[in-house]
Amino acid sequence: MATQYILALDQGTTSSRAILFDGNGQVVATGQREFQQIYPQPGWVEHDPEEIWQSVWHAIEECLGHASVSVDAITAIGITNQRETAVVWNKTTGRPVYNAIVWQCRRTADFLAELRSQDRVVDMIRQKTGLVIDAYFSASKVAWILDHVPDARSLAEAGQLVFGTIDSWLIYKLTGGTAHVTDYSNAARTLLYNIHTLSWDEELLTLFRIPPSMCPRVVDSSGVCALSSPGWLGREIPIAGIAGDQQAALFGQGCFRPGDVKNTYGTGSFLLMNTGSGPVASAHGLLTTIAWGLAGQITYALEGSIFITGAIVQWLRDQLQIIRRAEESEDLALSIDTTQGVYVVPALAGLGAPYWDSYARGTIIGLTRGTHRAHIVRAALESIAYQTRDVLDVMVQDTGNPVKTLRVDGGAIANRFLAQFQADILGRAVERPQVRETTAMGAAFLAGLATGMWPGFEPLEAVWRLDEVFTPKMTEQQREALYRGWLKAVDRARNWVDPA
Ligand code: ADP
Repeated sequence: MATQYILALDQGTTSSRAILFDGNGQVVATGQREFQQIYPQPGWVEHDPEEIWQSVWHAIEECLGHASVSVDAITAIGITNQRETAVVWNKTTGRPVYNAIVWQCRRTADFLAELRSQDRVVDMIRQKTGLVIDAYFSASKVAWILDHVPDARSLAEAGQLVFGTIDSWLIYKLTGGTAHVTDYSNAARTLLYNIHTLSWDEELLTLFRIPPSMCPRVVDSSGVCALSSPGWLGREIPIAGIAGDQQAALFGQGCFRPGDVKNTYGTGSFLLMNTGSGPVASAHGLLTTIAWGLAGQITYALEGSIFITGAIVQWLRDQLQIIRRAEESEDLALSIDTTQGVYVVPALAGLGAPYWDSYARGTIIGLTRGTHRAHIVRAALESIAYQTRDVLDVMVQDTGNPVKTLRVDGGAIANRFLAQFQADILGRAVERPQVRETTAMGAAFLAGLATGMWPGFEPLEAVWRLDEVFTPKMTEQQREALYRGWLKAVDRARNWVDPA
């Protein structure tokens, strides 16, 4: 049989990528295109939905241009996307009525602060969606568009306008405007979807004043939900996988069993644990979310986010200017055996899970006359590992699952010092895969699972390949002494700025 391929589209916050995978899960070709970040006011972030689509299309063209592969050999398309970003478009004209409001955008924070002051609403939303009331999630963005774009509300009420996260928008474009769908993992990030009853929730739609007719149909994360229009690639190709970026990474890391965990080390970090068929409520501020839905069977996840991880290395490079390149941090850290008691707490944007302290600020503590830049650089890298332990520890408490290994991906985990220190400070093995494009791989896995390239979890597990496993080398005593120091340093960083 001729070689077959899956085309994964990874629509991120700053660029769109297209990656062609073969049946061994190897990357055959890639294409990438950046697009404009629009900042109309401080704290506001938008993308032009048409430009997003154009960037995806250019990425596809570039990817296929690099691969000497016939379009006939592409058996399916998988999509993964920046989560929560919302688009509202007119289903008659196919045109967006406003720019996409990006997950980072804070424009609806005041409106939500008002909701957050009502305990009953906070509890109701937490119970139904597994989320907290925050401007990140799509609901308040859609509401803002309906409230601020002339005629939008009346058109929406007349059934003319629809909304979607970026996966919905791309599928709408790919199908020539015939499909309006999203998958369970993306629906779960809107603040409108009940993750227990698996339906758009009437009470939430009413609260945010969003007509139910605007909602996309929710489909399996793996399954043919539509065909791409032949106008794009010359023939119809099944769109067979959809998942939000972090859930896709969990899938791409082969975390198919309850208790499997992955962490992605990018600008910030996202730890997700597969919790199986039952949603687990966190007692420590983690989010409960849908990992994926396969044949109507839902797998849930617990999610903890850390605001600053790889970004502290950028800060050392660009602001403090004590390293020239991120890679340099590895040799510097390895040039000494210990930070000699120096800790960096990278609370540059407050602290996320499990502290949730927006008044915390960055701290470098434990300085002496003997401190030099290597100590600070090493302490910054160690802080990435400590923050990961903070979140993993509460995941273990919330689920009672002991967790033996952590699978890792993302740009910063190329750093071998960090990977080893992570294993040491967790007292658990850290597994790094060969293919680091785990997000795109997850989208490809979901599409390939649905269309027969990998007919089950076992073939997928065979395709996930280990690059290196880092095993703990530190004694328990050393580990706990270091971690106690970290907790003390975090304490000093907390509640630093005064509430306005
Ligand atoms: P994102 O997708 O969030 O842009 P990436 O996965 O591309 O992030 O990872 C980039 C981040 O990783 C940057 O913050 C960078 O500082 C950090 N990084 C990249 N290489 C290294 C390295 N060798 N050591 C430590 N940090 C690194």
